[in-house]
Amino acid sequence: MNRDTLSGSPGSKRGEHPFSIAIDKEPKMAIERIDPELCNGCGICVTSCPADVFRMDRKSKQAVITYPEDCTLCGWCLEVCPRNAVTVSPEKRSPLIVSWG
Ligand code: SF4
Ligand code: SF4
Repeated sequence: MNRDTLSGSPGSKRGEHPFSIAIDKEPKMAIERIDPELCNGCGICVTSCPADVFRMDRKSKQAVITYPEDCTLCGWCLEVCPRNAVTVSPEKRSPLIVSWG
C-alpha cells in the first residue's frame, strides 16, 4: 500500500502510550472521475448529489468534481447520470489514520 507510517510513544515512560499515524499518499475519495467524452452537461449529478460534490464548469459546460472528499459513496450519481460518465470507487480511505495502543 502506498502509505507512510510514523510510530512513537509520548508517555512519561517509554512505551506507555504508543501511537501510530499513517498517511495515505494517494487517498481514495470514492468519486473518481467524470469522463469528458461522455458528459453531456445535463447537470443532473450537480443537482442530485446529496453531498454537493459536483459543480458545472462554465467554460466546458460540463460537470466537474469539486469536493471529492465530501463524497459519501452513496452511488446516486451512478444511478442518475444518463451517459454513464461517472466513475466511483467502491473504496473510500481517509488520508490520515491515527491509532493508539
Ligand atoms: S449527470 Fe452525467 S452527463 Fe449529466 S452533467 Fe453529470 S456527469 Fe455529465
Ligand atoms: S457517490 Fe453519492 S456522494 Fe459521492 S459523488 Fe456520487 S452522488 Fe455524490
